[in-house]
Amino acid sequence: MNFERALLCGLGNTGSALLPLLAALPGLREVVLVDRDRIERANLACQAGLTAADVGRSKARVHARRLRGLRPGLKVVAYEQDLARIPLGEWHGALVAGCLDNNEARVVLNAGAFRARAALLLDLGVRADNRLARVSVLHPCRAGSACLECSWSEADYSPARHACAPPAPASGASAALGALAASLAMLEIEKLRDSALEPVAREVVVCADSHEIFSSALHRRSACRFEHSALNLSTAPLSLDATTLGEFFHLASVRGATAMRVEGRFYHPPLSCSAGCGGRLAPGFRPRGGGGVCQVCGRPSAGAAAFQCQTVLAQAEWPPLLGIPLSRLGLRDRDVITLAAADGQPSSFLITLTSS
Ligand SMILES: [Zn+2]
Ligand SMILES: [Zn+2]
Repeated sequence: MNFERALLCGLGNTGSALLPLLAALPGLREVVLVDRDRIERANLACQAGLTAADVGRSKARVHARRLRGLRPGLKVVAYEQDLARIPLGEWHGALVAGCLDNNEARVVLNAGAFRARAALLLDLGVRADNRLARVSVLHPCRAGSACLECSWSEADYSPARHACAPPAPASGASAALGALAASLAMLEIEKLRDSALEPVAREVVVCADSHEIFSSALHRRSACRFEHSALNLSTAPLSLDATTLGEFFHLASVRGATAMRVEGRFYHPPLSCSAGCGGRLAPGFRPRGGGGVCQVCGRPSAGAAAFQCQTVLAQAEWPPLLGIPLSRLGLRDRDVITLAAADGQPSSFLITLTSS
């Protein structure tokens, strides 16, 4: 296995330790970093690569700068937002490493990796109370392979594993424990890179308290809460600024398309301004209820926008939008557009930017 793109989700105790190891991976051309949090003083003791001057700064931006310093020439993309808000196409074909501190985010991580066909999914975890470091190694492109949730029990969905209002409670894990989990993950990557062996979904746990190592193969479970579906994905290189929605439909050439959606986004119709200025909010695909501003008075959208938005845009609503460039409809590099056709499987298109 060779990896050209990596998606590193979470830059705390384990993610900050994995970053310099990933930076040394031969063949890597692009790394995407995701973390919505800012650096707190308490992070300095248990997270790698930080200085006192970083307190208050965005984790994604600080570690992006660190990564560029470690490996000049690497393309680095930083998202300072929730994992659920980044374009689904970021998972496609990528080495995905989840360094998260709650299972709500892990559900997003798992769904993205399997729906968009990541090359490899690693999920890291630490537990401070008995000094456990864990890595789960999953193969989203292998037919019938286990997903992350296949081995979860009801307790794994309990509110205690849910993300609390930010900031999430600190795990209390030391930097050494985070580095242990990161090393386990990186060694699994190196083994997959160097060997022609059949990749197996596996969980490896090291308990530093009892000096025990546990390893188990992971199997797909039909009662799993995730539906194990993958998109029928093809790549559509185009210019978001120059290509209109109508031109995209022409390029996609899906016969008899009846509806479209942008994965992970909601279509907001051109609502009237809630401030009563007579203006309208531009239509577009955005996070639920978010992002739209009045074209006349500039006020942001009110609660009605969250109520009126929809995931699917039916063909009858397309005509007024056909002449609008995709960027003005809120589309971003690596967003995925899915077209449903009356007679067959939906087709999904990963938008990648051309240089023009
Ligand atoms: Zn599953
Ligand atoms: Zn207005």
